[in-house]
Amino acid sequence: MDIDLIRKYNIPGPRYTSYPTVPFWKNDPLSSAEWVNSIKKNFEFFKTNEISLYIHLPFCESLCTFCGCHKRITKNHSVEEPYIETLIKEWDLYLKALPYSPKIKEIHFGGGTPTFFNADNLIYLLENLFKTNSVNPNEVELSFEAHPNNTSTDHLAKLFQFGFRRLSLGVQDYNPIVQKAIHRIQPFTIVKKVHEEARNIGYTSISHDLVFGLPKQLLADMIHTVEKTLELQPDRISLYSYAHVPWIKGNGQRGFDESDLPQSEEKRLLYETAKSMLEENGYFEVGMDHFAKPHDDLAIAFREKKLHRNFMGYTTKNTYTMIGLGMSSISDSWFGFAQNEKSVEGYTQIVNEGKIPIFKGHLLNDLDLEIRSYILDLMCHFETTFKNDSLYTKKQEEIKDRLKEMVIDKLVEIHGNTIKVTDKGIPFVRNCCMAFDQNLETGISTERMFSQTI
Ligand code: SF4
Repeated sequence: MDIDLIRKYNIPGPRYTSYPTVPFWKNDPLSSAEWVNSIKKNFEFFKTNEISLYIHLPFCESLCTFCGCHKRITKNHSVEEPYIETLIKEWDLYLKALPYSPKIKEIHFGGGTPTFFNADNLIYLLENLFKTNSVNPNEVELSFEAHPNNTSTDHLAKLFQFGFRRLSLGVQDYNPIVQKAIHRIQPFTIVKKVHEEARNIGYTSISHDLVFGLPKQLLADMIHTVEKTLELQPDRISLYSYAHVPWIKGNGQRGFDESDLPQSEEKRLLYETAKSMLEENGYFEVGMDHFAKPHDDLAIAFREKKLHRNFMGYTTKNTYTMIGLGMSSISDSWFGFAQNEKSVEGYTQIVNEGKIPIFKGHLLNDLDLEIRSYILDLMCHFETTFKNDSLYTKKQEEIKDRLKEMVIDKLVEIHGNTIKVTDKGIPFVRNCCMAFDQNLETGISTERMFSQTI
């Protein structure tokens, strides 16, 4: 990696799980009628009833100090049943409001800690979500985030029996010093036990989530963590950049000193080292921060240019409608985004009043939709082509102009209407997307809004 390029391009920027990005959403508040209308618009346009569901299960028994998620820390498990009942009520509200009977193609349990909930409660939730669908694991992709410290045999067996074939294990880093700094003690033996048990039960896609740029994390720790990960041969590996945003996440991200964090060049070296080790061992880099074995669906979708990206990250199921259930969940109808109430109490109260619990969102105009598709192409395939019938040719010229510097640095190539991120430019794909982002065009400061791009 060229240190000068890192210094030049390592600026705060979005991760583009949505466009427009959340800080620029304009519909605050967004009414549930407006939101349901945008789902209807989707149905009329795409003429499909297929949807993905994201279920946010927010409770965790202890706070990890690197965490950027919406969560509630508690050891009190009596919160499980009322929360599950609220999720079911919220789903019923959607079933009444949707202009069609939805066909679920994908469900992801995220959190928080989904495995905070006991397996019977999760199955009860699933049975209610699927009351209008029949489950065929070959047609529906069911996945969950498994916390190695509390994922039991019961979780693995019952969820598998229901149709789950995919899980992701939150690993982060195996060095005890790093684990202490992030307040997440989780020895390799625990991860190994859950991983092997899942394999023996029959899970066909196991992902390990690693994080680089954590407090006190050194190059030797990254190497050790990747070596241990390779021993278990997961199908997928996510290698996330630690997003240090304490001004958003408050005290949760203040359990260590800023000086404990690896700085930009050191941090990039952690990524590049892990990437080389993974590639030498048969993994393919997929999208921005994912690696997969060649047989894995994610690698196949990437090769076939069928990869999609939404608030759940990269996915192989492109449904154009994602409904997020649970506190703080984000939904996406392609023509609009909506976010649920961010507190458990507020969320529960609104659902109990019989209302879809969204509080803000963004309805996309024609320009938003066009830019969104270009950014999605770049994030998934590192390449996009401007539409010939676009109303916004002037904008296209402006975007090309804003990419000039990246072209000079050989990070981007422009051939006619096609913009291509070069191999050298892949670590800078977020910067490339920023050139398309109409909300950043006035030179607005992204300081204290987003994490660093590199
Ligand atoms: S990292 Fe996961 S387990 Fe830790 S506090 Fe955040 S959501 Fe909970």
